[in-house]
Amino acid sequence: MTLSDQSKPEPRPFSAVAFGPDGRPRPLDKYDGPMLASSQGSRRFHIMAKPAGSTCNLDCQYCFYLSKETLPQGPGAGRMSDATLERFIQQYIAGVTGPEVVFSWQGGEPTLMGLDFFRKVVALQEKYAKPNQKIENDLQTNGTLLDETWCAFLKEHRFLVGLSIDGPKDIHDAYRVTKDGKPTFDKVFAAAMLLKKHGVPFNTLTCVSRISAKRPLDIYRFLRRELGATYMQFNPVVEYKGFERTAPQVWDAMKLPKQGDPEARPGRPDSVVTEWSVDPEDWGYFLCKIFDEWRARDLGKVLVNHCETLVAQHLGLPSQLCIYGEFCGKGLAVEHDGGIYSCDHYVYPEYKVGNVHSGNLINTVLDRAQVKFGYAKNETLPKQCRECPYLRDCWGECPKNRILRTAEGEPGLNYLCSGFKRFFAHAIPEVERIAADIRKRGVQPQARM
Ligand code: SF4
Ligand code: SF4
Repeated sequence: MTLSDQSKPEPRPFSAVAFGPDGRPRPLDKYDGPMLASSQGSRRFHIMAKPAGSTCNLDCQYCFYLSKETLPQGPGAGRMSDATLERFIQQYIAGVTGPEVVFSWQGGEPTLMGLDFFRKVVALQEKYAKPNQKIENDLQTNGTLLDETWCAFLKEHRFLVGLSIDGPKDIHDAYRVTKDGKPTFDKVFAAAMLLKKHGVPFNTLTCVSRISAKRPLDIYRFLRRELGATYMQFNPVVEYKGFERTAPQVWDAMKLPKQGDPEARPGRPDSVVTEWSVDPEDWGYFLCKIFDEWRARDLGKVLVNHCETLVAQHLGLPSQLCIYGEFCGKGLAVEHDGGIYSCDHYVYPEYKVGNVHSGNLINTVLDRAQVKFGYAKNETLPKQCRECPYLRDCWGECPKNRILRTAEGEPGLNYLCSGFKRFFAHAIPEVERIAADIRKRGVQPQARM
């Protein structure tokens, strides 16, 4: 039996009657919708691949992924085998019926797999590519292992690189260190220069921590002026204290602090988050400052994830970031052993939804468990969000950050809520002006991931 015989890529047939876990017929409902609609129109979803699992050559103190190695019933340590790689690539390409399949290689540190692994990746993508379908690759890396050979390969095969860099040396080295605690800034900066020399396009991925959130302009200007970044992604570091073992939404909701409680901020022994998590007020300050700088100097020249998506949303386009979308569910993660999880931030046994060896990726994506996971982002919003003037900009942001209760005691409020409110109140009047100007000039806005 060949690999392709073992794994038919089409969604399983679906009759007008559905069956529950007990084998009895049950009425169809909205969670059956994606499966029912899957044979019509294009199927688009995204899988983040972790070929080296959580293994990394660095020991960044705020990393949420290193602990997966020791998570009970988690993916453990390991590297993706050739058989798993082939099944993943085959099923992913077969499952997406849109014009483009985007492979995102993440970790851990994916370059630890070595170049030969990525040569196999490219060869397998060519083997399974469908006519008229574009295949793209992103590589998210800490940059420390990149050299001339890597850069030549990345250029030749049109990889888009996401380079993790937190800002100038003192900010970057505060958390991003080697296993023996040594700083990494110089290597990462050299990697950026090497990427530029080879003409490899790269985005910057900057984690905004409790320390760095107080210095938005030092970070932005460094990325813009010294690194020459033209696409910046800023991610707030927010980790529930106990995230190493406790999956999101598995926590005891009624024990979570209320918004405004002292425990709802970092830096106290009883804080709900780790000590490196960004303070919600600082996050709001950070976003406002970045927005002003971008608006004043770089609009149309530099892409900043939070600014771009806000403009897009006010042009009537969907959010470009899942965190500001109404639903989750279309961005899954595949681990080194082929295990499939609802999302990169939900790699916990409770959210394991399949395995490329025992099932088929597209059936996992369309399965009720995954669809329900996606709908839950909207369905579990507290009243405070439903009545919020910024609901359509925010949608309660990422559910893994919903670790507060509202002042009335309702669970499900986002830890960063006060920061988002500050940002939206500050930026939206100007965003409306930018959107009006774009419409007036007749520029056709493009949806972009
Ligand atoms: S859980 Fe968070 S990161 Fe995952 S898809 Fe939803 S919003 Fe995005
Ligand atoms: S700003 Fe706060 S209240 Fe409004 S939708 Fe976002 S998390 Fe909810």
